[in-house]
Amino acid sequence: MWTILESDKLYQVSRWGKGHYGINSKGHMCVFPEKASEGPSIDIAEVLDELKAHNIALPAVIRFQDILRSRVMELNKKFDRSIKENDYKGRYMGVFPVKVNQMREVVEEIVDAGEEYSYGLEAGSKPELLSVLSQDVPSDALIVLNGYKDEDYLRLSMIGSKMGRNIVVVVEKFSELTNLIKLSQEYNICPIIGLRAKLASKSSGKWKESSGDKAKFGLTSSEIIQAVQLLKYSKLLDRLQLFHFHIGSQIPDIKTLKNAITEGARYYTNLHKMGAPIKYFDVGGGLGVDYAGTKSSDSSSVNYGLQTYSNDVVYILKQICDIENIPHPNIVSESGRAITAHHSCIITNVFGEISPINDQLNVDLNEEEMSEHIILKNMKDIYADLNAENIRELYYDSIQYKEEALNAFKLGVLSLEQRALVDLYYSKLIKKIASYELSQFDEAPKEIAMAKSQLTKQYLCNFSVFQSAPDSWAIKQVLPIVPIKRLNEEPTECATIADITCDSDGKITQFLENDKSTCKLKLHKLKNDEEYHIGIFLTGAYQDIMGDNHNLFGRLNEVHIFCDDDDPSDFYIEEFIPGNSCGRILKTLQYNPESMAMYVKKQLDKQVRKGKLRPREGVKLTDFYEKSLKDYTYLK
Ligand code: PLP
Repeated sequence: MWTILESDKLYQVSRWGKGHYGINSKGHMCVFPEKASEGPSIDIAEVLDELKAHNIALPAVIRFQDILRSRVMELNKKFDRSIKENDYKGRYMGVFPVKVNQMREVVEEIVDAGEEYSYGLEAGSKPELLSVLSQDVPSDALIVLNGYKDEDYLRLSMIGSKMGRNIVVVVEKFSELTNLIKLSQEYNICPIIGLRAKLASKSSGKWKESSGDKAKFGLTSSEIIQAVQLLKYSKLLDRLQLFHFHIGSQIPDIKTLKNAITEGARYYTNLHKMGAPIKYFDVGGGLGVDYAGTKSSDSSSVNYGLQTYSNDVVYILKQICDIENIPHPNIVSESGRAITAHHSCIITNVFGEISPINDQLNVDLNEEEMSEHIILKNMKDIYADLNAENIRELYYDSIQYKEEALNAFKLGVLSLEQRALVDLYYSKLIKKIASYELSQFDEAPKEIAMAKSQLTKQYLCNFSVFQSAPDSWAIKQVLPIVPIKRLNEEPTECATIADITCDSDGKITQFLENDKSTCKLKLHKLKNDEEYHIGIFLTGAYQDIMGDNHNLFGRLNEVHIFCDDDDPSDFYIEEFIPGNSCGRILKTLQYNPESMAMYVKKQLDKQVRKGKLRPREGVKLTDFYEKSLKDYTYLK
């Protein structure tokens, strides 16, 4: 009897879920917003029932707002602990980089949760800065401005300073500094100045080009000295208070982080000796998420946890400062992925499957009456003769006969019916080979595994990879995918995930299974009378915002779930944000749905006047077109 523990091991839920996700006794995926097994738990299947009751269609993004809160608190507490244990004299003053998820409700939740820790925000562009300035962050929290800056960006930073905010303009390019000095004189105020260094220490992983000589951002060592001299000359050296580097997102190996902190700490102590009163040491982003749950230095994993991360930052910085007799700076991190990835998931329904092997003939072919071609006879014979001893030989014979059948068909020697029968017996043979258990052999022929992999199905899911999981398409990022129910039942099918876009790239073929990544996912056999839902988890960082409108599917329906201990289900839906309707997504491309509907009506009316369409039918078709413009873009 299959147990939920086996499902947990197969899908690695406990390992990537980091205490926030689990499987309950009903075999359903569940969420522990407070990360405590004795705390409230939300059954995702119950959330889906409630969506159905409210007519909220799938696919949908489900946000568990309490997880955001919990992640902000956890990061701050881990740093506070490292600081205390190391007798470090500075404090931790993290900022959330809004580019990771700019959704207003997400940012507001993080700001609210971070209030007691003076947790701030980071912006990387003008629109992000406009949004950040409208947030009610604590007055002592930092607002760090990264990214290339034109004059308007810098003017907006001046407004922030005039509003009394703790604005830090990080200089990414030398020319930004001269502009900043000029504007400071004009506004008679100067924000805190930060310098981003182009460190030589490189990360491994997918974002390793964010550091090193070829990095896009940051000042070289000589530019940093030049910046100090210019600020001294401009009598603004007292405003140079932050030192920053960012060696890339999703740092998989703690070793590379330690190297960067060591190099960065030396920059800091040297800058201090040059007279720059640096108060903040900003280690950037990069704190990774263990998507694969393998605790390794693979690019979809990390070989460290939050506590190790904060311990290493604090310890290395303290040691170098103490050796150099320089004060301990406050520590800033711009951790984004680690704060938001866990809080949201995409739920989609499987609406069908494609099987590459079809061993059922759904048409009436009278084999008796058909003349039997030699290729067909050979294929039938090897199917009948297959046994454990001749698997390897007959596997390759079958491939040869299948190819010969194709050539014979192209030459007109084999009829369509005969070819269909050759294909049928080939499929039966592959299925028969795949049915052998590997364990029954001392040395199993590899052709059994090859046959098994030929049986991998495609489960058709109602979503767009390009909109909801772009990293899985663009950079082959592994995201955990788990069925929402039936986790107390053995999954017997092997499948990949295909989306509904008209693009052969629109699929997911990389998964986790028992501590390794694999190209097929174990899922349950679909039932005719029961919906099958799967969840794509850890999608709260970058995925939402980078998703594109390929095939015009657009944004998903979205619900925000809050935990409520007094509710029988431990949760309530606080907000529903409808996804894109067809009309709305078309509007973003300059179409006008009203004139489109009018045009279609005119054309149908013309057909009515010509007598080619009955008036009642014309009205019905017009109504349907208009209704479709208002409908959700995804499959019903
Ligand atoms: N800070 C900067 C300058 C970045 O470029 C990024 C993203 O790459 C981040 C912070 C956020 O990084 P992460 O999401 O890995 O924490």
